[in-house]
Amino acid sequence: MTREARKPKTKPGAFKKRKRKPCLFCIEQTILDYKDAAFVKRFMTDRGKIAPRRLSGCCAEHQRMIAKAIKRARQIGTVPYVVD
Ligand SMILES: [Zn+2]
Repeated sequence: MTREARKPKTKPGAFKKRKRKPCLFCIEQTILDYKDAAFVKRFMTDRGKIAPRRLSGCCAEHQRMIAKAIKRARQIGTVPYVVD
């Protein structure tokens, strides 16, 4: 296979620009309460991990707030550390 015969999978500069959905906490001006276990669980994976920003869709500032709330919720025992 020569270099000329190989087709590039994507044309340079042809990648799709994806619009990032706005952060939930920025638009609603709400604060995540760590005592609200059901709401905190929305920002966790099914394995009990903190969802990364690409899943939670939150900005850096609010992602830190989520992480802190989940860690606090784990300490008071409303959400699990790990799910097997
Ligand atoms: Zn935000």
